[in-house]
Amino acid sequence: MTKKAHKVFEAYLKDNDSRYTTQKRAIVEKISKKKNHFEVDSFLAEMNKGNERFSRATVYRTLKQLLDAGLLQKITAKDGRVYYEQNFGESHHDHLICNNCGKIIEIKDDKIGAIFNNYCDTLNFDMEYRSVHIYGTCKQCQKK
Ligand SMILES: [Zn+2]
Ligand SMILES: [Zn+2]
Repeated sequence: MTKKAHKVFEAYLKDNDSRYTTQKRAIVEKISKKKNHFEVDSFLAEMNKGNERFSRATVYRTLKQLLDAGLLQKITAKDGRVYYEQNFGESHHDHLICNNCGKIIEIKDDKIGAIFNNYCDTLNFDMEYRSVHIYGTCKQCQKK
């Protein structure tokens, strides 16, 4: 999966006159190991645990490019916190976000994707990226 992600990203960067630097590769490697939604700050701290220094600008730029390349998903919570998640192997999925505790619940259902694809086809819309957020209160928070 990671190999494929490197390939896709390399092609994207080439198309956009950008170089696939060693730092970008390291960022992609690290993201490929992430199974969960992550925030930029904690990710940056993780990247800087080793000897090499990664600047915030480099990390932000790379995340932005990965988003554009369709390799990441971005989730914005109601409080403005932004989470990222790798999308190296899977198709896009959707999220339920609890406004109270911030929990993010995944919805992975190909039927939803098929419905959106269908709409895009009908409307002759070239979809690049999908991000559906449903905000509300999770099961645990409803009990409180
Ligand atoms: Zn909750
Ligand atoms: Zn997700």
